[in-house]
Amino acid sequence: MAGPRAREYYRDSLGQRVLFTNRVLMVLLAAEWIGLMVVATTVSPRVWAGTQSSLHPHLWAAILAGPCFILPAIGVALLCPRRALTRHVLAMAQLLISILLSDASGGRIETHFHIFGSLAILAGYNDWRVLLTASLITSADHFLRGIWWPRSVYGVLTVSPWRWVEHVWWVFFEDVFLVLAARNSIRDLRIAANSKARLYEGASHDQLTGLANRRLLQQTFDSWQQGSAELRCAALLFLDLDLFRQTNERLGYAIGDKLLSAVAGRLSGAVGHGATLARFGGDEFVVFLENVSRDEVAIALGQRLLRTLDSPFHVDGQEWLVSASVGVSFYPEHGATLAALQEAADRAMYVAQSRGKNQCVVCSPEVIRTEQNMREIARSLSAAVSSRKFQLAFQPLVYTDGQPAAFEALLRWNHPTHGNVSPSTFVPLLESSGLIVPLGDWVLNEACRCCEHWQRMTGSAAGVTVNVSARQFDQRDYPERVFEALAVSGLRPSSLILELTEGALMQDLDRARSHLLRIREAGVRVALDDFGTGYSSLSYLTELPVDIIKLDHVFVNRELPRKTPILAALIGLAHTLRLQVVAEGVETETQREELTRLGCDYLQGYLFSRPLPPEEVESMLPVGFMPESSLSAPFLLQ
Ligand code: C2E
Ligand code: MG
Ligand code: MG
Repeated sequence: MAGPRAREYYRDSLGQRVLFTNRVLMVLLAAEWIGLMVVATTVSPRVWAGTQSSLHPHLWAAILAGPCFILPAIGVALLCPRRALTRHVLAMAQLLISILLSDASGGRIETHFHIFGSLAILAGYNDWRVLLTASLITSADHFLRGIWWPRSVYGVLTVSPWRWVEHVWWVFFEDVFLVLAARNSIRDLRIAANSKARLYEGASHDQLTGLANRRLLQQTFDSWQQGSAELRCAALLFLDLDLFRQTNERLGYAIGDKLLSAVAGRLSGAVGHGATLARFGGDEFVVFLENVSRDEVAIALGQRLLRTLDSPFHVDGQEWLVSASVGVSFYPEHGATLAALQEAADRAMYVAQSRGKNQCVVCSPEVIRTEQNMREIARSLSAAVSSRKFQLAFQPLVYTDGQPAAFEALLRWNHPTHGNVSPSTFVPLLESSGLIVPLGDWVLNEACRCCEHWQRMTGSAAGVTVNVSARQFDQRDYPERVFEALAVSGLRPSSLILELTEGALMQDLDRARSHLLRIREAGVRVALDDFGTGYSSLSYLTELPVDIIKLDHVFVNRELPRKTPILAALIGLAHTLRLQVVAEGVETETQREELTRLGCDYLQGYLFSRPLPPEEVESMLPVGFMPESSLSAPFLLQ
């Protein structure tokens, strides 16, 4: 049997056959009872040998057969139709009435016809034990009556006392065939149940992952909704894998499918009992959590789902990193139908994606407003990219004495209705739409051009750092694009630093390694941005050829007071690995002093300067700021 559903179908169809056979036997018993009375009144007196009429005992027997066993058997069949006992009771009643019929007709109603016919009908139960009961009754009857009233059994008076043995053999012979037929019929029922179950699974389960599909989830939701009236709270979690489309395109669909199955496996492990996990197609998964009394339970599940994807996946001998964004909606607050709940959770998920992915967001009026704004922004992004509506601002990275060492190029966009939109809002949108690739090229070229310009105008050696998103770095020809930007602008490679996040580097470690080697070989440096927010895996630091780590704001602001020893150890380790350390988000003098004491090489933050338009950078750099001789020395001296 293929599974529980197939077993259920099998039990159902067998049950149907049992009920049908019950009905046939009940009708037959009633008809035979009437027939018995007719035979007892009409045939019986004439066949009875002897002077005394046999009418009375046969008629009495016919009348009493009803209350004695026919009506009770029908009653049992009506009251407990599916019980095994019912089948045996009906079998006994059927055989007893057959016996009475052949007896009352003095053997004129052929015994064989009755016995064999009854066994054949009882075989409809597909239960050899019922045949056994019937056969035992037949054998006992033939043995007893065959000796004392052979005429009523065999229709003749003189008969060999061993004739009953012959009859029993015939019964046994028929039983063998009936059992074989029942076995075949059971096999057919099983085959039918299996294929029906497979059809059901196909229609209600996702082929690739084996999870429930949309249809089954709808059924689950409907039956939950029709169920208990008191418990009326539920949650729906909508999970979408971050940048999976790109991963799929890069890996090819065969590996993408394996990755999806592995993701589904981990998710179902994390979901546990009491919740339905469904795949909605592509890289979208939905969890329906019934009867959640507190919102925190659903949010905790969302976090658990995200955490379960944290460790890398191993597919086809390679390591892959997968993250997801989760949106949560609640019943009945956000909708009374599955579609409404799904839409609300989808909106929250969109906000989670736009806020930088790998997070869980709960639907709320504010989230809906944000989502609408985001969608509007997303719609106008493409036009803004093609009509070059973006500017660059530059924020200095300073030596510990406050002198600018380089400037980070940061995208700025002044939206016609939303005003200045934060890059943390529009960069993820640019990334998911792929627009970051052309715009990123523009940023790179523009940053190189500006840096070369201010170096030429002021004689400063301050370089420029450019943020590179995963999508850009993933381009096969990314190193060539960098070389071209350097060639067009005339900027020295040593003045350029590319900022990459761990996520971008770890998407495809082999490609990242080869890109990094080529870029660094040309003299361009690489910084690991936002260190402390993602995986912050020190082992990757040793594996990947990078030059600088940039400690994220979070590290500097939130962790600094609590984790000074960790930070000190991290900076020490970075220096041992010949990496330089930049602390981002420095806002106070205390932070500056502490980070300088801990050994940070460079600082960046509002304490020194906010991001500035390019013209202000030039005026910030004093002419001849760097001695002529150090111009050729690379910025951020090793
Ligand atoms: P990031 O690369 O970590 O950039 C530093 C961010 O921290 C900038 O935010 C900067 O304005 C902000 N910041 C600097 N000092 C302080 C401080 O003292 N306190 C606080 N709270 N924040 C400070 P911004 O400009 O909003 O950029 C946000 C993120 O957007 C950047 O983070 C970067 O990941 C992304 N981004 C910006 N421009 C680009 C770009 O051209 N390409 C790509 N791929 N991403 C970009
Ligand atoms: Mg950066
Ligand atoms: Mg950063």
